[in-house]
Amino acid sequence: MSMEMDMSLGCNSSGVPLLSCRNLRVSFGVTEALRGVDVDIYPGEVLAVMGPSGSGKSTLLHALAGVVKLDTGTVTYNGSDVTALSEAERSALRLSAFGFVFQFGQLLPDLSAVDNVSLPLLLAGIPRRRALQQAKSWLDRLGLAGFGDKLPGEMSGGQAQRVAIARALVNAPKILFADEPTGSLDSLAAENVMLTLTDLARATGTTVVIITHDPRTAAHADREIIVRDGLVTSGSVAFSQASDVPQ
Ligand code: ADP
Ligand code: MG
Repeated sequence: MSMEMDMSLGCNSSGVPLLSCRNLRVSFGVTEALRGVDVDIYPGEVLAVMGPSGSGKSTLLHALAGVVKLDTGTVTYNGSDVTALSEAERSALRLSAFGFVFQFGQLLPDLSAVDNVSLPLLLAGIPRRRALQQAKSWLDRLGLAGFGDKLPGEMSGGQAQRVAIARALVNAPKILFADEPTGSLDSLAAENVMLTLTDLARATGTTVVIITHDPRTAAHADREIIVRDGLVTSGSVAFSQASDVPQ
C-alpha cells in the first residue's frame, strides 16, 4: 500500500495549517450554532474537540468539512479558500481528501465488513479484486483479520467502529473527521478503538479531528480545543504549550 506521507511540515506551531477557519458563523433559524470561530489544524496532528452537548461541535466539524451552509467566514484547506469553490468542487475535495466516522459507524447492514470497507474504493473506480485486497489489509491493520465476511450485526460495537474507521481510511484521506466515534462504546472498547485510530493516524500521517466529551478519549489527542455556546473558548489557533506537542 502506498503511504503518501505529508509530514514535511511536522506537527508544530511553526508549520502551515492544513485546514483553518476564520470567523465561522452558522445558524439554524434563530439558533446561532457557531458565533465566530477561528481554528487552525496542523498536518499530522490529532485534535480533540470537546465541549458540552449542543455547544456546536458537530456543526463546527460540518462547517470544516464543507457540508453546512455558512452565514459568514472562511475555510481554508491547503492554502485555498474552500468557501470559494462550487458545490461540485467541494464534493470532489471531500471524496478525495476527507474521511468520516460517526458515533454509530453507519455501516451498510447487508454488506460484509470487507464489502463495507471496499465501497469507497469501488466508488473511486478501483477494480474489485484490488479493492477487496486493500480492504482486507486495512481490516488486518485494525485487528480484524478473519472478520472480513461478518455482517455488521454479527460484530461487537467496538469491532463495527473499527470497520467504520477502516472504511474511512481506505482511500487515504488527508483528514479524518470523527464525531464521537467512541460514544456508543464501553470504556475498554473506546480505549482500544482510540489506540488503534491514533496509532494508524500517526503511522500514516493522517490529520484527525475528533469530537468527544470523554476526557480519556481526548487524552489520546495531541491537542484539544473546547467549544462552548458556539465559540471556541480555549486552544483556538495555536498549540498552547510545547508539552502538548508529540515527541
Ligand atoms: P454538539 O455537537 O456540540 O452537541 P451541535 O453542533 O449538534 O452541537 O448543535 C449546536 C446547536 O445547533 C444546538 O442548539 C442544536 O440544537 C442546533 N442545531 C444543530 N444542527 C441543527 C439543524 N440541522 N437544525 C436545527 N438546529 C440545529
Ligand atoms: Mg454533536
